[in-house]
Amino acid sequence: MSKQVSTGNHPNSALVDPFGRQIEYVRLSVTDKCNLRCFYCMPSGFRDFEEPDHWLNFDEIERVISAFGKLGVSRVRLTGGEPLVRSELPDLAGRLSSLPGIDDLSLSTNATLLANQAQSLKSAGISRINVSLDSLKPDRFAEITRGGKLDQVLDGLMAAKKADLSPIKINMVALRGMNDDEFIDMVEFCAEHGFTLRFIESMPMGDTGRDACDQYLDLEKVRQQLSQVYDLVPGFVPGGGPAKYYQVSGTDLKIGFITPISQHFCQTCNRVRLSVDGTLHLCLGQEHSLPLRTLLRAGISDSELQDKIIEAIALKPERHEFNEKPGQVVRLMSMTGG
Ligand code: SAM
Repeated sequence: MSKQVSTGNHPNSALVDPFGRQIEYVRLSVTDKCNLRCFYCMPSGFRDFEEPDHWLNFDEIERVISAFGKLGVSRVRLTGGEPLVRSELPDLAGRLSSLPGIDDLSLSTNATLLANQAQSLKSAGISRINVSLDSLKPDRFAEITRGGKLDQVLDGLMAAKKADLSPIKINMVALRGMNDDEFIDMVEFCAEHGFTLRFIESMPMGDTGRDACDQYLDLEKVRQQLSQVYDLVPGFVPGGGPAKYYQVSGTDLKIGFITPISQHFCQTCNRVRLSVDGTLHLCLGQEHSLPLRTLLRAGISDSELQDKIIEAIALKPERHEFNEKPGQVVRLMSMTGG
């Protein structure tokens, strides 16, 4: 018989951390591999990927997400690495979207492989997507991603629109001296296509992320720059995520600012991350984690798995320390699941 779990002060969730935050969101990395090499994310010749034997298989992923669903998690985002390089992803999406309790399944992707998969992912239950796009200039896009083809991303985005994935959010890492002359172009692009735009501050994740901190831009400066051109109305809050949103007055366009460095938002953190090797990471910017793969492969029961997850949530740290200890996180973003 399944063990009764404590639900704390939150009637629908057993997952409340020591700081009173209800965990209702899992970011699930289905691979640490990526077909791009964004200079701030992964070293150019990087090959040190997780061994396939260590990847959680779809049955194992389904068990873990099912346990989270029973504990009050309702939202799951597939990420990576690049999630679309994992074969049969629509199959996994279909399995996860039909789990009890999971009512929001989304995807973060670079969209290079999306053109052929958008419709099957939508049919499998993915409702909305985030697409990384740091430049609309083909040469610059290739430079940032070390060889990526912008056309593939644009084709993927158009396929996503056609498949009625909604909303489609564009994530643009703001990089001084690299793409800071393109913010208005990106706003216009998103307005034209009905996409939401989010700017992101670069974070010191791994050596690549730390090196890119030379190009770090405080997003308050970006907001001020845009305010000279657009009337930005604050206060719009879609989805309860980390972005602070503004609406461009007189249009449907929403612009979000994700400011982990200049203004951290850890007090509202509602998420944990499961990496492809089955490690549950409690914080993007700290090392607190629980390895679940060995437990799964040792035959842990469903109720024991739920207990382990509850124990792990008790380890969630209060906040990242990217500013105080920028050398602390050696993991690349692609390893944790961005
Ligand atoms: N491949 C997928 C994608 O492109 O969205 C999902 C994984 S990717 C690691 C997730 C996001 O992390 C991307 O938007 C990427 O730009 C961002 N990212 C990677 N390294 C970063 C860093 N050091 N600082 C800020 N954002 C970073």
